Amino acid sequence: AADEGIRWDKIPCRFCGTGCSVLAGVKDGRMVASQGDPDAPVNRGLNCIKGYFLSKIMYGKDRLTQPLLRKKNGQFDKNGDFEPVSWDEAFDVMAQKWKAALKDKGDSGVGMFGSGQWTVWEGYAASKFIKGGLRSNNLDPNARHCMASAVVGFIRAFGIDEPMGCYDDLEHADAFVLWGANMAEMHPILWSRLTDTRLTKPGCEVHVLSTYENRCFELADNGMVFVPQTDLAILNYIANYIIQNKAYNKDFVEQKVNFTRTATDIGYGLRPDHPLEQKAANAGSGKLEKISFEEYAKAVEPYTLEYVAELSGVPAKQLEQLAKVYADPNKKVSSYWTMGFNQHTRGSWVNGLLYNVHLLVGKISEPGNSPFSLTGQPSACGTAREVGTFAHRLPADLLVAKDEHRAIAEKIWKLPEGTINPKVGFHAVLMHRMLKDGKMNCYWQMCNNNMQAAANMNGESYPGWRNPENFITVSDPYPTVSAMAADLILPTAMWAEKEGAYGNAERRTQFWRQQVRAPGESRSDLWQIMEFAKRFTVDEVWPEELIAKMPEYRGKTLYEVLYENGQVNAFPRQQVTDEAGNAYDNDEMEHFGYYVQKGLFEEYASFGRGHAHDLAPFDAYHTARGLRWPVVDGKETLWRFREGYDPYVKAGEGVKFYGKPDGRANIIFAPYEPPAESPDADFDLWLCTGRVLEHWHSGSMTRRVPELYRAVPDAVVFMHPNDAKKRRLRNGSKVKVVSRRGEVLTRVETRGRNLPPEGLVFMPWFDAGQLVNKLTLDATCPLSKETDYKKCAVKVERA
Ligand code: SF4
Repeated sequence: AADEGIRWDKIPCRFCGTGCSVLAGVKDGRMVASQGDPDAPVNRGLNCIKGYFLSKIMYGKDRLTQPLLRKKNGQFDKNGDFEPVSWDEAFDVMAQKWKAALKDKGDSGVGMFGSGQWTVWEGYAASKFIKGGLRSNNLDPNARHCMASAVVGFIRAFGIDEPMGCYDDLEHADAFVLWGANMAEMHPILWSRLTDTRLTKPGCEVHVLSTYENRCFELADNGMVFVPQTDLAILNYIANYIIQNKAYNKDFVEQKVNFTRTATDIGYGLRPDHPLEQKAANAGSGKLEKISFEEYAKAVEPYTLEYVAELSGVPAKQLEQLAKVYADPNKKVSSYWTMGFNQHTRGSWVNGLLYNVHLLVGKISEPGNSPFSLTGQPSACGTAREVGTFAHRLPADLLVAKDEHRAIAEKIWKLPEGTINPKVGFHAVLMHRMLKDGKMNCYWQMCNNNMQAAANMNGESYPGWRNPENFITVSDPYPTVSAMAADLILPTAMWAEKEGAYGNAERRTQFWRQQVRAPGESRSDLWQIMEFAKRFTVDEVWPEELIAKMPEYRGKTLYEVLYENGQVNAFPRQQVTDEAGNAYDNDEMEHFGYYVQKGLFEEYASFGRGHAHDLAPFDAYHTARGLRWPVVDGKETLWRFREGYDPYVKAGEGVKFYGKPDGRANIIFAPYEPPAESPDADFDLWLCTGRVLEHWHSGSMTRRVPELYRAVPDAVVFMHPNDAKKRRLRNGSKVKVVSRRGEVLTRVETRGRNLPPEGLVFMPWFDAGQLVNKLTLDATCPLSKETDYKKCAVKVERA
């Protein structure tokens, strides 16, 4: 490679939360190739197909290179056509709209939608700008559509976010259980490690649960297709089996666990007048109350093998086989889940129910025994969750609603006391609703394609974006469905075109250097946020009583207060080099005149250091292949909460769930409850949506890679052959899939990688030509506010 003049450097793959490291090959200022990084601990030299074609995602023919504003007769006009404008004009128009909205509606007038595809410091800079500068908490990431239920599950059970285990469990476990996780397609590199263990370790078992047969079933020793939503009942059955057979770990349960129960009478987050909301009209808090072990045992007692087998459709023998794996004291069990659990109207409950099982038998926080929530995006953990881009959060698990937490953030951010708004902001679904209702007027989307991704898009999202009162900005490298529905499009640098950091699902923070320059006038999200902050002075957006507390800020811009202040500009400009001495560009550092990424990172890291969220010093990450936090004295943590692994657990403490004041985790009883919408006489099929191996999310990047596009060009609806026959359809028939909310045209697929059971169809959402989210229901988990994309009712008709 050296002979060909290619420079190779490490960079994380920008798809999926697995967090593989690849080697980027750069020649003549262009990324020309990517290969698996042989020194990468996660992927050990391998990539999946998306990783091998990474270099091509930047070079689609329709890459945006200039800001585009809707105009008529030389002026902004919501009904005008997109015209190229300068960054100055783009930000002038945008700032004028934002200021008007803030004046008119206060903190609820503006909002931003970010992502786990932001770098760590982009998410942090956005959080500072919206929460510390504009004093609004209307900032939410697309992790709301992805990981929010997992977050609530962690916090309720352990008082602290993110998995206790790590990928090393893939080699240590004796049994694997997949709960609504199609790892073979969504986390293929982890799947290859799991497969390796299954095929080489004697006695190793793989159990797979899903609402349809996916590719993981090919390896499964026990493949179970269950009726949607009955995972709640199956988990309670397993807990009941463990108790009935006295297989629980008595010492562990007595010393490390509290038993609690959750409220049941809470709603789905739909509009109050929605008929589905009527059955759960009493919105509750989801507060926990303590119960005894005996009361817990009594609560799970009705979940007998016979009852749950009938409810779930899984044969009793297979359910029992699954329960025995968890109950067997000699088997180390690792459980994995992703969207099947999280995108669920009871997503927070179902996460908790799995922890219940692991906690009952004490199979947790040690090699091979791990309940592990996989993530979808490359920095769902590192950015979306850890730096506080949720509408209710601040960095390092702090909450906007808590006085003492806001005070910590205000101190670190050098802001007057009382700057941060205590009111929880609008979450992702609510933002669209508020736009539609005209209660929020400005919305800025980065690193996302929420017009394609949001559920019930014709009912809530599109009317909100096109509401004449609103001004919508989309930052994106490509003209996506979202961009075309916006008023202003800002051209964005892609991941290899800037210096960055991501945090993957096993708490591994990984850095990369800027590999190439962005085309035309494209700029990074970080540049955009910080430049936009220059358009506001504190006098324009803060009340006088706040400015009076720090009069030195009077007349200053938010840029000066938030970024050119304190720790952020503490590090001077320097040449970035790799170990071989190769020099790298850093466009943001050049532009702002200081090492902006380092300043933002060190300030952000100060939130977590000493609080079980310790990140290593900035420079350490440029030489390491990632480090798993907490990193204390240069040592990363593989298993949290356990003595000998976790620096926060002292000698003699054994296991300590220190996120809770008494060091005990919560076992939380939650019942089975039917879904918000089920098939009926009019709409007789379940619809489940998801992804395919070859495409990332909405396909805006991967569909521009010729090889990936040719492999899977269009979406199809996967259907059982008997369901097709009943409707006089055959493989390839053109059909309409219709729900109460909309319809899409597609083709039937009765073969291939997914085989749904009779009564269910599966359709991926990567295809901008077949917007499946016209069909989906925007009911959310009441606790996490995450939408259930996995079940709603549809019918399929010949087109
Ligand atoms: Fe690895 Fe995921 Fe990238 Fe595939 S898409 S190479 S599994 S990080």
